[in-house]
Amino acid sequence: MAEPRIYLDHAATTPVDPRVVEAMLPYFNQRFGNPSSIHRWGQQAEAAVERARLLLAEGLNCRPDEIIFTGCGSESDNLAVRGAALAARRKTGGNHVLVSAVEHHAVLNTALALADEHGFEAQLIPPDEFGQITAEAVAPLLRPDTAVVSVMTANNEIGTINPISEIGALCRQKGIIFHTDAVQAGAHLRLDTQSLNVDLLSLGAHKFYGPKGVGALYVRDGTQLVPTLTGGSQEAGLRAGTHNVPLIVGMAEAYRLALDERPLHNQRAEMLRDHLLRQVPDSIPDAQITGHPNLRLPNHASFVFHGVDGNQLLVALDVAGFACSSGSACKTGDPEPSDVLAAIGLSREWALGSLRITVGRDTSEEDIARLMDQLPGLIQRLRTAESLQA
Ligand SMILES: *Cc1c(COP(=O)(O)O)cnc(C)c1O
Repeated sequence: MAEPRIYLDHAATTPVDPRVVEAMLPYFNQRFGNPSSIHRWGQQAEAAVERARLLLAEGLNCRPDEIIFTGCGSESDNLAVRGAALAARRKTGGNHVLVSAVEHHAVLNTALALADEHGFEAQLIPPDEFGQITAEAVAPLLRPDTAVVSVMTANNEIGTINPISEIGALCRQKGIIFHTDAVQAGAHLRLDTQSLNVDLLSLGAHKFYGPKGVGALYVRDGTQLVPTLTGGSQEAGLRAGTHNVPLIVGMAEAYRLALDERPLHNQRAEMLRDHLLRQVPDSIPDAQITGHPNLRLPNHASFVFHGVDGNQLLVALDVAGFACSSGSACKTGDPEPSDVLAAIGLSREWALGSLRITVGRDTSEEDIARLMDQLPGLIQRLRTAESLQA
């Protein structure tokens, strides 16, 4: 009997919804115009981009001209953090960049590049044991020369949700620009740019059943940014380059569907997640949940197992038919424990044995039951092999 193939890595990426594919298709070869052209081909494409912008703005509770389309979530993060830091320094001389220690590399490495290449002082905000960045942790670090603050809405590795509107209120009080990376949260959480008190918010379509290679950045009216991609005057001069019309159309449609169907999907996902959060520590010795026990993404379960090689576990799971992750898709093959797990205080022996299980719209109770049939035995086998080698 062929093994089932069960995909449980929806935090890494999701399949494109067939309805989104349908919406995109005409824009590849029928309505293929360049939105910047004067003629009717151009007008047709421009209308599609502006419709997409309107749709996304409705979902994020902002004005359409506050949405900038980009090439991915990482690019949105780059434009936000680098663009805001450079613009703020030009305006006020501010030289301090404050980002959380558990950010995705798209934010973290941008902050480090600002320090290395532009002489900024980059400082990391420490998380608590659940990987949460509290307003209390941010408040004492805000300074008169702080150019930009970046704290992610929800963490991709451990699922923890941060109190963004509280942190945003603190920054606003001091007149400091506040960015949140909402790429991982996009599918699951209500992102109201007004109640979140954010100036900048990043999204990436492929995390919510949209296509890869397209993202968006919310830029609150009046927020100054220096563009990272210079050239033509597309996207209010903030992102040069001919619009990727089909992908932009697809992103907006995917976000609309995600919003419409969110209550249904979240409820189902939470049930499966809670099942995993209960069963894994119950059925496997020396196992811990990572991230917050309940303030976490509805589809996200993450664990560490003492004395297990996380990469070997992923390979063994793959052979058994299950696609999971150790946390960040970008870190596969890296023998070092993840920055996030180190930042929440886990020792190497724990942090190397990490597992992230993220369910999706099509995940069934049976899929989770099959995983739970296999996981305890696989871990036991890996631990035995390890101790035989030692
Ligand atoms: C996936 C992800 C990104 C990167 O988005 P891409 O569209 O893949 O570049 C950034 N931040 C977080 C939190 C993510 O989960």
